[in-house]
Amino acid sequence: MSHQKTIYSFIGLPASGKGTQASILAKKIKAKVIGIGDLIRETIKDTGDDPFLIDIKKRYDDGTPQPDAVAIDLVTAYLGNIDSDVIFDNFPFSNGQAEFLSNYLSKHSEWEIIIIYIELAPETAIRRATSRKICSGCGAIYEATDEMICKKCGGSLAVRSDDNEETVRARISQYLPKINEVIKYFENSNSKIIKVDGEKSIEEVSGEIASKI
Ligand SMILES: [Zn+2]
Repeated sequence: MSHQKTIYSFIGLPASGKGTQASILAKKIKAKVIGIGDLIRETIKDTGDDPFLIDIKKRYDDGTPQPDAVAIDLVTAYLGNIDSDVIFDNFPFSNGQAEFLSNYLSKHSEWEIIIIYIELAPETAIRRATSRKICSGCGAIYEATDEMICKKCGGSLAVRSDDNEETVRARISQYLPKINEVIKYFENSNSKIIKVDGEKSIEEVSGEIASKI
């Protein structure tokens, strides 16, 4: 095969641990974890008077989702400029984005893609997300803990304010159909998909990913 670079795409519900797993893999293979949010923040640092960039910034500031075309433009520019493997957190996140990425790969044979799908029951995601605490001192995140004090810095732990059950349920019901369409797309196109059980511990999941990629 002529592939020289790999895109690892982590797909999963909020609280599935995909961000943690993406960072573990990043350290291991010395690649960078990129989300569309990172690319957007980088792009809108200097909008100048470019109407396209000003629109992106406006949507970003209002919290309005960006159209697929924006994500696709940013990813195309990013992939065109990078010489190492890439880890995407939560991209592609729609059928349109998946289709774009497949087309891009078919024209750029130096890249291959591996989808890493961390499966988690929606109820587990809700339970984890609503019991997640964040340290006021160092920002460390704790899943489902009764502790009130941070083990790393001694700061106090509090439940994140945007993690109430209603918000979490709404976020998860937005995620589910997107994830399903992305996974279905890659299954139909015979891409390499690694499915891991997100109910297992962080170490078990990272071990499973390492053994399958
Ligand atoms: Zn702390």
